Amino acid sequence: MSKSKGEKPVSKRQKKKIVEAGLRELKNKPGWDIEAFRSRSPQEALRDFEQDFRGNRVFAKSEQCGDCLEVREQLGDDTALCDVHLAAAMGFDG
Ligand SMILES: [Zn+2]
Repeated sequence: MSKSKGEKPVSKRQKKKIVEAGLRELKNKPGWDIEAFRSRSPQEALRDFEQDFRGNRVFAKSEQCGDCLEVREQLGDDTALCDVHLAAAMGFDG
């Protein structure tokens, strides 16, 4: 392990990016109704807030995840997540 980065705090912007990346991924999955997700009700806004919080925690965890790092390298995206952590960030981990 020779990664020198990984201790920077997750900014609001990054968290937003995580969620956006998640939406991008989900959009590609069959059966996912992206429009329903985008039409925000207060409940969904609250959910978003929770996801934001989760995303932050998941992002911290993903710093130690080999799969996440691999995806990041592949996409050249510092905030990319592997399937498992992406699902967790979106609140789909049960
Ligand atoms: Zn991961």
